[in-house]
Amino acid sequence: MRLSTLLAPTLREDPNDAEIDSHRLMLRAGLVRKLAGASGIYTLLPLGQRVVAHVEAIIREEMDSIGGQELRLPVVQPAELWEASGRWSVYGEDMWRLHDRHGRAYCLGPTHEEVITDLVAHEIHSWRQLPLLLYQIQTKYRDEVRPRFGLMRAREFIMKDGYSFHASEEDLERTYADVVGAYRRIFSRVGLEYRTVLADPGAIGGSQTHEFMAPADAGEAEIVSCAECDYAADIEEAEVAPRSRSEASVPMAIGRIATPNARTIEEVAEHLSTEPGSIAKLLLVRLLFADGRTECVAVLLAGDATLNENKLLAVAGAISLRPVTVQEAERLHLPLGFLGPVDLPPGIALYADPEVAEGGPWVVGANVEGYHLNNVWGGRDFVPDRVLPLRRAQAGDRCPQCGGRLSAQRGIEVGHVFRLGTKYSCVLGANFLDQEGQTRPMTMGCYGIGVTRTVAAVIEQHHDRDGIIWPASVAPYHAVLLPVGTGSFGSRAQQVAEELSVQLAKRGISAVIDDRDERPGVKFKDADLLGFPVRITLGKALEHESAELRLRKDGIVQMVPLTAVADVVSAQIQEATAVPIA
Ligand code: ATP
Ligand code: MG
Repeated sequence: MRLSTLLAPTLREDPNDAEIDSHRLMLRAGLVRKLAGASGIYTLLPLGQRVVAHVEAIIREEMDSIGGQELRLPVVQPAELWEASGRWSVYGEDMWRLHDRHGRAYCLGPTHEEVITDLVAHEIHSWRQLPLLLYQIQTKYRDEVRPRFGLMRAREFIMKDGYSFHASEEDLERTYADVVGAYRRIFSRVGLEYRTVLADPGAIGGSQTHEFMAPADAGEAEIVSCAECDYAADIEEAEVAPRSRSEASVPMAIGRIATPNARTIEEVAEHLSTEPGSIAKLLLVRLLFADGRTECVAVLLAGDATLNENKLLAVAGAISLRPVTVQEAERLHLPLGFLGPVDLPPGIALYADPEVAEGGPWVVGANVEGYHLNNVWGGRDFVPDRVLPLRRAQAGDRCPQCGGRLSAQRGIEVGHVFRLGTKYSCVLGANFLDQEGQTRPMTMGCYGIGVTRTVAAVIEQHHDRDGIIWPASVAPYHAVLLPVGTGSFGSRAQQVAEELSVQLAKRGISAVIDDRDERPGVKFKDADLLGFPVRITLGKALEHESAELRLRKDGIVQMVPLTAVADVVSAQIQEATAVPIA
């Protein structure tokens, strides 16, 4: 391939609408273009399409290796299927809905549990036909509230979705473990560093799920992980234990202290020359329930802790929450900024985290403007209505698995595996006759990989200030041949480039020739931006029948005789693609 004819429009300057590195570099390196007037909808240009195709090929190899069968389900799905599963009304505004000419309602598939379960319900009837692992690689549609970061959170994106059907829970466990193994190989092979984390099943339902997270600052997910063992969890899902704290042996009498203008935990801590962790903060929140009812509750946490909103919603059985407004607090005669658990007005339930539920001494708000209380003891000065772990995990917490220290980091969710149980098979009639001749619903698993998001994640983890540094396994081309020089020297360089490209192709190495009429400086800059793993410069070294080889990854330069170039590059690429599986 010649760069002069390739549709790879590189940009000299950073585009101003790109907030994260992968988005910026995909635009600059000419991998993608946004469709004008449509946020979150992208064209994959030839180089971007090649990378996606390489990721897809790795996914296919690994899914096939565990017995997966590829199929292709329709994108357009009738509302009836979603009504049968009960998700037509709950999926919400993320679902892209449309009508046909007869007024029938459809959606553009955001996911395919309904469609595949319906297929299997019709085609599979006996335990002899199970287990079954089906997958597809297809464009998905989700009208995301905030499409952003390019391919990372798009409204039209490519997903690998897989579904498995089983006669028993134990059988699902085997396939689940196989898929987790395949995912490990896939993410290692595409060059991602990743963690497997425990996560919340969300709208898809079912129990216990694992997410594959690629650590990166641009990630939207927050995870905690242990450096000493393999424990990692979504920050909202992580188990939290109360932290140890030195307590005074003899409780002193409660006291009132003036804290004018000290409203936040930091201000109070500074005013009293103490640590945020010795203050207990009271949050007043309004819970909203599915039947439209609302309730105001008070939540008590250590001052350096954060409320895990998901846990509070789950224990209260509410669907959403928000902090109370100033006006609502005024009606309750409670001054925001000076709230505390002592003498709360009746009718407000007090939920306390175990760290603060008992013992002391704590500094808390006095429920009087401008005052706090000190030497407050849980159990003596206030008694919570409910004691629940409502604190979010945070860096420095003890690992629930080994007792080590947890660290917090951001991650990109690139894959997600779920146990669905019989949630879909029951409602959509995916039943089978077991060995005893009994009709039973099939047990299901479901397994997703964000294909285009994975490409973005690879760039987030592999770039420097000059551009992308592609892992050889997914690079759009393994090498760039760079002929430089003018006149007869230049045409010799061009001719050698053509010859080497043929020799490389014979060894399975793809190369692009930068035959553009550009200054060498421009070519070198673009080679770095586009991130091909090996750069082969045909310039001065040609006088000695040699070429200059440079690895994009570490900048190491080597002079290699022309006769050996194809073999050396081929060995370098082979070495780079033989990744140990993490
Ligand atoms: P998120 O929490 O990031 O919205 P999700 O939990 O909704 O993801 P799943 O329904 O599990 O995602 O979809 C499977 C995979 O598809 C995800 O792990 C992710 O990699 C990818 N994915 C989901 N939404 C998008 C999107 N809007 N753009 C690109 N990839 C996506
Ligand atoms: Mg989502």
